[in-house]
Amino acid sequence: MGAVEKQQRTLATAGTWEYAPSIESREIVTFEDRYGLFIGGEEVAPRSRSWFTTVSPSTEEPLAEIAQAGAKDVARAVDAAREGFDAWSTWKPSERAKVLFRIARILQERARELAVAESLDGGKPIKESRDVDLPLAAAHFFYYAGWADKLEYAFPGRRPRPLGVAAQIVPWNFPLLMLAWKIAPALACGNTVVLKPAETTPLTALLFADVCRQAQVPPGVVNIVTGDGSTGAHLVRNGGVDKVAFTGSTEVGKAIQRELAGRDVPLTLELGGKAANIVFDDCALDQAVEGIVNGIYFNQGHVCCAGSRLLVQESIHDQLVRKLKRRMSTLRVGDPLDKNTDIGAINSKAQLDRIVELVESGTEEGAEVYQPPCRLPEKGWWFAPTIFTNVAQSHRIAQEEIFGPVLSVLTFRTPDEAVEKANNTMYGLSAGIWTEKGSRILWMADRLRAGVVWGNTFNRFDPASPFGGYKESGFGREGGRHGLEAYLRFE
Ligand code: NAD
Repeated sequence: MGAVEKQQRTLATAGTWEYAPSIESREIVTFEDRYGLFIGGEEVAPRSRSWFTTVSPSTEEPLAEIAQAGAKDVARAVDAAREGFDAWSTWKPSERAKVLFRIARILQERARELAVAESLDGGKPIKESRDVDLPLAAAHFFYYAGWADKLEYAFPGRRPRPLGVAAQIVPWNFPLLMLAWKIAPALACGNTVVLKPAETTPLTALLFADVCRQAQVPPGVVNIVTGDGSTGAHLVRNGGVDKVAFTGSTEVGKAIQRELAGRDVPLTLELGGKAANIVFDDCALDQAVEGIVNGIYFNQGHVCCAGSRLLVQESIHDQLVRKLKRRMSTLRVGDPLDKNTDIGAINSKAQLDRIVELVESGTEEGAEVYQPPCRLPEKGWWFAPTIFTNVAQSHRIAQEEIFGPVLSVLTFRTPDEAVEKANNTMYGLSAGIWTEKGSRILWMADRLRAGVVWGNTFNRFDPASPFGGYKESGFGREGGRHGLEAYLRFE
């Protein structure tokens, strides 16, 4: 066979090549059969005597039994945090900083173990938990450790003081990273915390309890109560908390706001989103395709700031959609522990049902659906990457948060129209702009009602940069110097 012929044959069969699996070993992490609550620096059995099982969404395999904290357990955790506060708030700030630095370093040292645990319990691809969740979680602790003894400089002349006991409730999409966003600034400001992880992903928070022991976090400074929404509700209702920070759905956020009405308890809410990723005809198109894929298929689309509405300038619509479909066909869906995997498992059966229901509404309302051919594993919960074209503003898939790997494509002709369509939502968490003109990015960013606006990139995070919403995406900022304010009062 001649060289040219050989090359042609190679190219002809290239599409059928399979990757060899590259499975990250799960040996590095061992789970207990059962986890109690982490209160006052110790693991304690729940007084509720109630337990539930956390399962791996990619295999439906039970991973561990988890305590379901009741009202008495929550009260005990709040009391422990109060006792912890009496000591911790009097510590020299530089000593508090040392504890935070220790946590950050231990997170780095145990990064592989925690990344594997995160992928097993939550279903996200190991390359994301390893390269995004863990490095960012450690970076948050490093960043806020740096602020701990410089609060007077962060707010000159305002005499910052800690609030007391912070109740913190986090969702299942970035379990350890959301924990870091909550705990790091709270502790740096001299508060103590009671944190409630989501019921489908409690394991990394429970391993974090061990990190706290290793880092010699004093008893009562970090308390972790596991359980479902009722545990969260007990925590919010508890009269001993001085601050509530919540990340999750807009619906629950509103319920918490109602519960706190009339109580002098500061609240921050990080809620849902329906971000517009806006692509102009002068952008670097291949780069934009990568940004769009990252914007919606990262973490199975379980991302509050996901670029779930693609607004594309009409003149390049067909070309862009063609490129996007080609790129989607290369995405690998499957075992979260395989380092080749781009899209892992859907976090729970309930979430999969929500995605399926909304996708069905899309086709019923007249949008055109496309999914690249891909084999989904038989066990576990999966959804293929999906794109909808011919979407109208009024469609549910253009209005509601799907929180799955589903992209809705809409078009615009002028920058004004792009702004109007992007802002036509009850949410306002993030947006992306793709154009070669810097001035246009600034012009658009000024007019978009979104907390974060990315220019020629998407889903970029840095602990120094504040993050938060407009409208029904919530209020308050996490990250950066702004993130400190939520945990301080000023004398
Ligand atoms: P969810 O609101 O159902 O649950 C979030 C957390 O709140 C869980 O720990 C849950 O147990 C707890 N909870 C449920 N009911 C409660 C109640 N009545 N009182 C107190 N706590 C209660 O949300 P979810 O489905 O776990 O997470 C997905 C949502 O989170 C999406 O809407 C997403 O956009 C949002 N989210 C927002 C951000 C952000 O920074 N804005 C980040 C991640 C996720």
